[in-house]
Amino acid sequence: MSHKNSDIVIAGGGVIGMAVAYFLSRETDASITVIDQRRPGTASWASAGGLWPIGESVGLGCGVIFFKTLSKRRRENPDEPIVLERPHQLPDYFLDFSLKSNAMFPDLWQELRQDGGVDFKLEKTGLKYLLFDEDDINYAKQIADSIPHLSAQLVWHSADDLRHSEPNASPKAIGALEFLRDDQVNPFLLTESYREGARRNGARIIDGTAVTGVGMNGSRVVSVTTDRGETHGCDLLINAGGAWAAELGRMVGLNIPVVPVKGQIVLSERLPKILKGCLSTSDCYMAQKDNGEILIGSTTEHVGFNVDGTLDEIRGLVTGAVKAIPVLRNLHIKRTWAGLRPGTPDEIPILGAVPGLDGYLNACGHFRTGIVASAITGDILSKLVLGRPLPVDLTPFLLERFAGKNIDALIATMTGGHVDHGAEHAPTESMARQAA
Ligand SMILES: Cc1cc2nc3c(=O)[nH]c(=O)nc-3n(C[C@H](O)[C@H](O)[C@H](O)COP(=O)(O)OP(=O)(O)OC[C@H]3O[C@@H](n4cnc5c(N)ncnc54)[C@H](O)[C@@H]3O)c2cc1C
Repeated sequence: MSHKNSDIVIAGGGVIGMAVAYFLSRETDASITVIDQRRPGTASWASAGGLWPIGESVGLGCGVIFFKTLSKRRRENPDEPIVLERPHQLPDYFLDFSLKSNAMFPDLWQELRQDGGVDFKLEKTGLKYLLFDEDDINYAKQIADSIPHLSAQLVWHSADDLRHSEPNASPKAIGALEFLRDDQVNPFLLTESYREGARRNGARIIDGTAVTGVGMNGSRVVSVTTDRGETHGCDLLINAGGAWAAELGRMVGLNIPVVPVKGQIVLSERLPKILKGCLSTSDCYMAQKDNGEILIGSTTEHVGFNVDGTLDEIRGLVTGAVKAIPVLRNLHIKRTWAGLRPGTPDEIPILGAVPGLDGYLNACGHFRTGIVASAITGDILSKLVLGRPLPVDLTPFLLERFAGKNIDALIATMTGGHVDHGAEHAPTESMARQAA
């Protein structure tokens, strides 16, 4: 077994682990090592790339979730009355957190093109929620009424305005509510650009390797071991394990309520410009990327770590897209995929320190907003490490918010009873030491 040393080990190299590595490497000379296994379903390589702080906070980034739950129930019981279930809104502190993160992207885009040499394709698109009936209008009004302080960022489009701004929208759409600063990036390139920036600043990145154990000295993390038989001594471990964060948590004796939430996506072949901005409906969202491909997302499924593509769900997404944009009827599908969002019971990320555990920080549980929240997460984690003032109050993001709660029951409520703890691990070095 070989032994190597770093000051900071980041377990997980998705967008969050890489953002943390980049922000840290920019601010400190500490030696940073990212260890990443790239498991099937890694969210950052499956994401839509929406920077939708308002859309996501009001639940539209995953418009199809609730519709999907409903349609599944109706498949099982066709007599089930149709009651449209609307996504719930996230608290104001989360909206503030994601708006602050979103505002960091224009500077980050310039900076990362220089520091990392990768352009993550920031596009000013806005996000329009298309309205088809009275129910949609009422829902949109409810959203607008709930965020009066953001009224300058909202635009109501009449049917005529919509025809103008999105000529390919269905004539059946009777208008739209637009969130002006909800834009998009290429999520793969964003992750790459953080990675390249961190690497050029001296961070070490170990790919294709799993962290399998954590060494402790009393309550302090002192090392991690990997499936390559290496031990990395460290002063700090950052858990950026995405949907697998609970598995890493167990290695330090924590019960972290992060579960995989599957999302499927359909990608078209390149098309001429059909969509001017990003669109959401009650069925799906659609985004045309800078190369002309149209991405249609996404389902929200509680099926553990399964990432199989399923015909029913793909059909549901495509049907929703054609209803909104009829010319997509002729679309050629290039590929479909599924990824695993790191879901938490309250849909809020888990960040920061844990009382009684030294040398350990959480950077996980970003559910459906890890792309947009990556910038502020990198900033927060780097400021935590360096003892600098934070841009937000971290209290509602700490793991402690679940203290005294029955985590299995919370997860069972969230997943409709599907509890999947992922790969079971033999007792780790840390647990053995803690028990001793
Ligand atoms: C279909 C879909 C659409 C989405 N759309 C959007 C969107 O439009 N906007 C948005 O903001 N967000 C979106 N998201 C959410 C966003 O993609 C996630 O929140 C984000 O990617 C999470 O990043 P992460 O780094 O925490 O996790 P991941 O990207 O999953 O990365 C975690 C990494 O850690 C590795 N790992 C885990 N355990 C270990 C271990 N023990 N040792 C070593 N490595 C390990 C994994 O293999 C993986 O590589 C979407 C997600 C999905 C699935």
